[in-house]
Amino acid sequence: MINSTNSHTILTGDRPTGPLHLGHYVGSLRQRVTLQDRYPQYVLIADLQGLTDNGSNPQKISQNIFEVMADYLAVGIDPAKTTICLQSALPALAELTMLYMNIVTVARVERNPTVKAEIAQKGFSRSLPTGFLVYPISQAADITAFKADRVPVGDDQLPMLEQTNEIVHKMNSLLPNPVLVPCQAMLSSVSRLPGIDGNAKMSKSLGNTLTLSASEDDISKAVHAMYTDPNHLRVSDPGQVEGNVVFTYLDAFHPDQAQVAALKEHYQRGGLGDRQCKQELEACLQALLSPIRERRQQFSADKAALMDILQAGTEKAHEVTQQTLSEVKRGLGLPVMF
Ligand code: ATP
Ligand code: MG
Repeated sequence: MINSTNSHTILTGDRPTGPLHLGHYVGSLRQRVTLQDRYPQYVLIADLQGLTDNGSNPQKISQNIFEVMADYLAVGIDPAKTTICLQSALPALAELTMLYMNIVTVARVERNPTVKAEIAQKGFSRSLPTGFLVYPISQAADITAFKADRVPVGDDQLPMLEQTNEIVHKMNSLLPNPVLVPCQAMLSSVSRLPGIDGNAKMSKSLGNTLTLSASEDDISKAVHAMYTDPNHLRVSDPGQVEGNVVFTYLDAFHPDQAQVAALKEHYQRGGLGDRQCKQELEACLQALLSPIRERRQQFSADKAALMDILQAGTEKAHEVTQQTLSEVKRGLGLPVMF
């Protein structure tokens, strides 16, 4: 059993902007499956955050809530161990966001490098939604409402956690006793999986994903279209493994890393073709995704069961988050009426 000194509370989440992909799997989902056996873990479906850049397309978000749930269950997140909950059904998160917005300057939100990059990538310019600019504040509310101290995420989330901790310290300094708990990222060994197009990050918004629900054919096509070393023209040529997406994926997904090391050595020496490397990668992705796809089909066929899981998890999360909100309000001297 874990004693209180080495116990942690885990919170992570995903925007329901589309089915989850291999980047989520290696960046966060894989860790969650291990962590749920050791610690209390909450997984938040961040539908409100999904709306911050999909305000005119709410159906996209609502339709994907159950897709994301089916992905969770298919990879092995167990609702008996992990509390799965829905952001929009937890009013304490919105209220904490309102309280935190008053202690974060506009200059600070504009400086967040992930948000800056996303604003440029989405081409918002003057049409930037206010909600999008402040989503890191809402994310701070999500993490702190659960008093989570460990957050398994990809490296794009590091600026969010830094900003969360600033809010924690500022808010705690305003309260007679500290209420909020600082958090730390738990980065996986693959904290940023590139897209199948070689772009720096696999991301739903960039359309360069291989989803956990991809068909056998999708997997095969994606692997065979992958970017390799453009100078590796003949099989006999020495090839480069750095920046070669096929090798990045072999590093991330192949169960036998000694075999990957041997493949790399052979590729660099010359005499190993791209086609053979891709066949090796395809075989390991098919083996990984085929059981996930099957389980996913079973789970998504029973929407009522998914709804029950979400309802139960959200009820539990409601209690925890209301408690934190009450503590913050009391500390600020605001009457707590409910
Ligand atoms: P969107 O494009 O809508 O923002 P996304 O693909 O970036 O979607 P999110 O829901 O924003 O996915 O991310 C959920 C979690 O998965 C975060 O912890 C994020 O760091 C992690 N993650 C997403 N993409 C990757 C990736 N390519 N490599 C590693 N981790 C990732
Ligand atoms: Mg994202």
